[in-house]
Amino acid sequence: MTCSAQRARSGQAIILLMAVMVIGLLVVMWNVDLHRIVSTKVRVGNAGDASAQSAARWQGITMNMVGELNLVQAALLLEDPDDYGSAYEIAELRSRLTLLGPLMGFFDAQSVAFLNLSANDRQHIGSGYANTLRDRANQFIRGGGFYYGIPEPYRGAWLEYGVLLKELADVGVVVQCGNTRRYYFYNGYHILLDPGFYDALGYPPDWCWFERTGNTELLNDYQDASSWPNLPDLQRRSSVNSEYFGVGLRQVYTALGSIEDGEDNEGDDDSGEDRTEELWNLLEEDAVDVKGVSSLLLEFNQEYMMSNRYPWHFYDTGGDWSGDFYKWVTSDSGDFPFRDGETVLPEFNYSGADASTTVSIPATSYTPGIHMQANRIVWHASAKPFGYLETEEERVVPHYFDLVLPAFHQARLIPNGISSRTNYEDDEGWEEHIYEHLPEYIENGTLQGDCSYCRDLMLWNNSAFRRAGRDWLRKYGDSCDESVGGSGQPGGYRDPR
Ligand SMILES: [Zn+2]
Repeated sequence: MTCSAQRARSGQAIILLMAVMVIGLLVVMWNVDLHRIVSTKVRVGNAGDASAQSAARWQGITMNMVGELNLVQAALLLEDPDDYGSAYEIAELRSRLTLLGPLMGFFDAQSVAFLNLSANDRQHIGSGYANTLRDRANQFIRGGGFYYGIPEPYRGAWLEYGVLLKELADVGVVVQCGNTRRYYFYNGYHILLDPGFYDALGYPPDWCWFERTGNTELLNDYQDASSWPNLPDLQRRSSVNSEYFGVGLRQVYTALGSIEDGEDNEGDDDSGEDRTEELWNLLEEDAVDVKGVSSLLLEFNQEYMMSNRYPWHFYDTGGDWSGDFYKWVTSDSGDFPFRDGETVLPEFNYSGADASTTVSIPATSYTPGIHMQANRIVWHASAKPFGYLETEEERVVPHYFDLVLPAFHQARLIPNGISSRTNYEDDEGWEEHIYEHLPEYIENGTLQGDCSYCRDLMLWNNSAFRRAGRDWLRKYGDSCDESVGGSGQPGGYRDPR
């Protein structure tokens, strides 16, 4: 009797011991898992920051090279003001740099990101974004000189552009461009262009979104796809710049003697002031460091060149380089480009070229079997090339003279909120959805089956779903907190301009 009781007790002990071991094992596994997720987050973050910085660095390099070529052209024209042939050849070189330089940054962004990731990360990147880029590349390659009526900035540009993009897609893409500027873009607001709307339809639906954004009427009035207002007009953007990490330049055909802040800089205090002389002094003082060019400028007939029209590359001060876009508030990044605790130094207070990137890795590859709500580890980063020109009295912004000059010294990370980031979507299907699926949907009510946004819309088209929303809001609508939810404002979709 005692013997069997003893055996029973030792049996219980074994069961207990096994239970403890299993629990212990689970704890260890969970910790390893947690550790892997945390360290992946760090790697993805580093990859994102590094990619934004190298894209921005290439923006600076591109603009410096364009600036040097402006000066080389000036020097040549001073020697022979009738040498239009050389001027046009140099202008084409600048156009080539303006279009393709940022793509070099796109390549560079990929390689620095790859270096920051582990072999396992790289295996799980997926090919979605690469396919998007490849599709885009093929449109330009096949489109020849015209792509959807967008003229080439120089002859053969679309083929070069397409081939480079395709190569990029083929070598592997981990970094997405976060401030892509399509040559065609929607110029205006539409609820179907608001990512917040699709988020609200997710599981569980965020019915309060409709309350917060004043769209409850939509839940009542909507019948079918024909209820939607038309999409805003597509507008064409200048094709001088790359769609990816574009630097916001324009090519003009003008006499340098007429450089002044004219209608392009509305609202600028110095409006109408003639800066030609100031530019000239700057070049004479060798303040712009281009070997020998400035001293050459001294020796020749300025008058002639100043009054003749030639092609030049200018900053697009009517758009990207308008000064009041940025709301630099304070700095947590030392004294550059900010003075500690104060507002930004005037010479750095400009918008213009910046680079936003997104790096994301599926988290599921680190937590097999565990379903996570946010199933990707995502990092958004933005950076910007900074620089200034030094005139006699002070440092001024790089676009002070409108003419592109070599002025950029470094690239720094900037907060995403003040960057020109346009797509906050982690899902690479967003652009395809708004540019390809939506026009078809509004026109005929048909939706693509393999697109997550289209699936959201199928759900929305179900009247029972919308009724559930109305019922929910009737019951709990008062509990919707106005202050909750960031992207829910009307206009949460930022105009990509
Ligand atoms: Zn879609």
